[in-house]
Amino acid sequence: MKNQTRAVVIGGGIAGCSTLYHLTQEGWTDVVLVERDELTSGTTWHSAAQVTNFGMNQTMVGLKSHSIALYQDLRDDPDYPVQYNHGDGGIRLANTEAQMDGYRHFASMARGMGVTFEVIDAAECARRHPLISTENLLGGLWDGNDGDIDPASLCQALARRARKAGAEVYRQTPVTGLTQHRDHSWTVHTTKGDIDCEVVVNACGYRVNEVGAMMGVHHPVASMEHQYFVTDDIPGIVEAGHRMPLLRCPISDYYCRQEKNGLLLGFYEQDCRTWGMDGISPDFSNDLCPDDLDRITDVLEGAFARMPALMDVGIKTVVNGPITYTIDGAPLVGPIPGKRNAFCIIGLRAGLGEGGGHGWLLAQQIVHGEACYDTWVLDPRRFTGHGNVELTALKAIEDYQNEFRFHFPHEHRPAGRPVKTTPLTPVLAAEGAAFTVVNGWERAEYFKPSPEFAVTHGFGFDAAFDVVAAEVAAVQNAVGLAEVNGFNRIEIAGPDAHPFLDHVMCGRVPARAGKVGLGYLLNAQGCVKAEATVANIPDGPVWFGSAAAAEWHDLDWLAQHSDGFDVSLRSLTEAYTILVLAGPRARDVLCACSRGDWSAQAFPWLSVRRAFVGIAPAVVMSVSFSGELAYEIHVPNAQLYAAYLALRAAGAGHGLRLFGARAVESMRMEKGFLHWKADLITEFDPFETGLDRFVAMDKGDFVGRAALAARQAAGPKARLVSLRVQCDHGPAHPGASILRAGAVVGTVTSGDWGHRVGQNLAYAFVRPEVAAPGTVLEADLLGRSVAVEVIAPGPYDPQMRLPRG
Ligand SMILES: Cc1cc2nc3c(=O)[nH]c(=O)nc-3n(C[C@H](O)[C@H](O)[C@H](O)COP(=O)(O)OP(=O)(O)OC[C@H]3O[C@@H](n4cnc5c(N)ncnc54)[C@H](O)[C@@H]3O)c2cc1C
Repeated sequence: MKNQTRAVVIGGGIAGCSTLYHLTQEGWTDVVLVERDELTSGTTWHSAAQVTNFGMNQTMVGLKSHSIALYQDLRDDPDYPVQYNHGDGGIRLANTEAQMDGYRHFASMARGMGVTFEVIDAAECARRHPLISTENLLGGLWDGNDGDIDPASLCQALARRARKAGAEVYRQTPVTGLTQHRDHSWTVHTTKGDIDCEVVVNACGYRVNEVGAMMGVHHPVASMEHQYFVTDDIPGIVEAGHRMPLLRCPISDYYCRQEKNGLLLGFYEQDCRTWGMDGISPDFSNDLCPDDLDRITDVLEGAFARMPALMDVGIKTVVNGPITYTIDGAPLVGPIPGKRNAFCIIGLRAGLGEGGGHGWLLAQQIVHGEACYDTWVLDPRRFTGHGNVELTALKAIEDYQNEFRFHFPHEHRPAGRPVKTTPLTPVLAAEGAAFTVVNGWERAEYFKPSPEFAVTHGFGFDAAFDVVAAEVAAVQNAVGLAEVNGFNRIEIAGPDAHPFLDHVMCGRVPARAGKVGLGYLLNAQGCVKAEATVANIPDGPVWFGSAAAAEWHDLDWLAQHSDGFDVSLRSLTEAYTILVLAGPRARDVLCACSRGDWSAQAFPWLSVRRAFVGIAPAVVMSVSFSGELAYEIHVPNAQLYAAYLALRAAGAGHGLRLFGARAVESMRMEKGFLHWKADLITEFDPFETGLDRFVAMDKGDFVGRAALAARQAAGPKARLVSLRVQCDHGPAHPGASILRAGAVVGTVTSGDWGHRVGQNLAYAFVRPEVAAPGTVLEADLLGRSVAVEVIAPGPYDPQMRLPRG
């Protein structure tokens, strides 16, 4: 066994084998995989191993396409052909129009990734799957690439190819400890000796937290018991003369594929069980949980009704095994939060279908620092400290119970809520707030006009449309107050604070005390990594502020780029909350509850100072995401209620009204302002994203400058544009395809109604040749072709007069 290598991948299931293979493909051939037992002895060996192309976003579709192409290649390898039934096709069923709309949206989104899904009616579903009835069926989504693969030979084939490229695989080699050294390298301790390496990868399936604990990390991953059975032969299958397509049923919560001449059915029962919460026996290997078919009676009935032929056949085999879930159902693939040179590929609940692609994207991140797609939807840092055992288990149960029921726009499921709150949460609830969730934070979404007011989730504009319009009108015509909790706030102290920021940001960093500025951070590829508001608090430290979800991401990035700078970083995210005061009367309200000269001359746009709001100490910034005259009032949570009361009292005579996140979203679209990880992604550079004015190529070196210069010389691949969408039934949802003459030329990143300009607005990355204002394109919105016109960004107050007050 080697005692030195570049990377040690721990775990020999599909996740580990795929990572090992792809590391060799990306150029790291001196790599090792260690497995405590035999390859595939965790969950992988007993998987139903269906491989689908469906994903909730373009990153998932793209990585699944990679899996499918790789598995086809492995199937066709004459030296070691893998058993892969590719192209049986598959149907996701639906019995409501809202589900059908979702499928239409996913088809539009997949189109942009070169993948064709068909939305078909009930009769066509039955024609393609002759065993199903059309009762209580509206239609479905057809995925022609669906199939299934033999998991054992898949992993052996990947390991075999990796070995051929130089990698080594050590079986029967449990990892017993991990030590990180000052230079950030690692020693992996195993029962057979130590291995020194640069990088470690946790690919330990349901044992993820045993290995996580070895580096002092808890991963938000919980295991559920999950069962399928295989039936005896079904005559209808033989008679059909073709293999049966896969089925996924959100109505009765099961999946189904052909196995020999019978069917394999897997169930997501409501009466489900977590597994291994109090530890896992070290002997549980190549093992299963006890069968428990009583538990699945509820879902079984639905499957029988859909496929009556099932009632006439016996059950051959039952499999009940552990399957891993995370807080939002998507895996955790990427850097381990708070650690350097440590990665994970965990929480896979569809690891056979996705594993090929996850290993590919992870290997790119390890070797190059970034993958070809923006991987935020998989990033382990997207949950922060709240991802504890109890919450993860509750969310895992909820997700399991809703396996094939996708989240609708604005939908946040109830399990484990509220997770993160402020002293104002119950106060705003009493004011009628409906809440959305941002990185666990309960944030007011809008204020209900009556206690019984509720919206039905769907893809069109919903009943809250007029409520949001009224909140926007209050902000536009008088003044509004909103709580923005969880906003990421990192205090940067030390003599090198500004040189450090100058190093990591691509534009000029405001250096003057009392000044605020917006800026961007690039990755080594010259693309947009992060966005920050830098505030030079007079007589105080610098605050680096960014999106709530960015807390761990940005802290890691700053820490990893601070070598050689005399700075200290401290997160103040949980200590403060922002109260946003916005509208033409915002200054009047502030003057009424805060001493000091708040005139435009004394405190112009983009200023920061300390002040008191009532008796509450605050850091006040004159910045505006709404486009109106506005102040962000950052208040310590202990005094938040006091500040709120002071502002409410001061606002009473000025028509002050509460507003929520949906109004903010509408207003920022009218201003051309961008959202991190919606419009600001690692696939595009700041020029492509329209951020030219935030780049200073002449200021000297900064992170990503050389790569950005090369990209600039090569010319843009895309442009972020603003669009006017010529329909009023619903917004253009992120992911929808933009077309010209039937060919995809772009993808929507954000969309919402602009209440002040009375227009349906969207942003999209489109090919440069169609980016000029005035160009008319089409959008594939829920299966309808809708005209969209490229317009100049920020149609509301384009001169930015209002925030200057
Ligand atoms: C019943 C069932 C049906 C499923 N059906 C499908 C399906 O149809 N399609 C699909 O895509 N997915 C399916 N899945 C999910 C899929 O099987 C998993 O997502 C996938 O197998 C997980 O692979 P993994 O490599 O992450 O974990 P595992 O396969 O569990 O591999 C982890 C490995 O790490 C090793 N390990 C752990 N600790 C250590 C240590 N300390 N040192 C060294 N090695 C260690 C383990 O021995 C194990 O081999 C199903 C799962 C179940 C339970």
